[in-house]
Amino acid sequence: MTRQAIFPGSFDPFTVGHESIVRRALAMFDEITIAIGYNSNKQTMFSLENRKKLVADIFSDEPRIKIANYSGLTVDFAKSIGVGFILRGLRTSADFEFERAIAQINKQMTGIDTVFLLTMPEHTPINSTIVRDIIRHGGDVSIFMSKGITLSKYL
Ligand code: ADP
Repeated sequence: MTRQAIFPGSFDPFTVGHESIVRRALAMFDEITIAIGYNSNKQTMFSLENRKKLVADIFSDEPRIKIANYSGLTVDFAKSIGVGFILRGLRTSADFEFERAIAQINKQMTGIDTVFLLTMPEHTPINSTIVRDIIRHGGDVSIFMSKGITLSKYL
């Protein structure tokens, strides 16, 4: 039996914090699908296509990573591809409070469990909203991005 999980998020953009969670989780799962959630009514800085390209470039060395996009409920998407675990990162107690209710509801509704990994301390302050703000003001976000990634290629 292959152990599979999905790592859902908007990933606008995918940061080194996201990458770290996924690479660490590869020790627990045989295959991880990075599932980019999108909502056609919601404006994002990076297009869906470019968010996918960025993730594909970061994991070009890792055949156990799959990339998909979905709209609607994460658990419905997980069920549709036959995956029984959701992977999430936890940075702060605020993340925990927010994630706890969703994870418990998802479990009650579908039986799908959520597996949490605590962020590496150096990645705790990184979040995509702040990264977007820095970009908007012309700042350099390269230290928050995966090695070898030039974010302007994906804008
Ligand atoms: P969402 O759109 O659900 O807020 P994000 O794209 O911001 O999702 O993040 C997806 C997942 O990655 C979440 O579980 C989030 O907690 C985690 N995450 C976000 N930033 C970091 C980080 N800097 N370090 C580790 N995990 C992170």
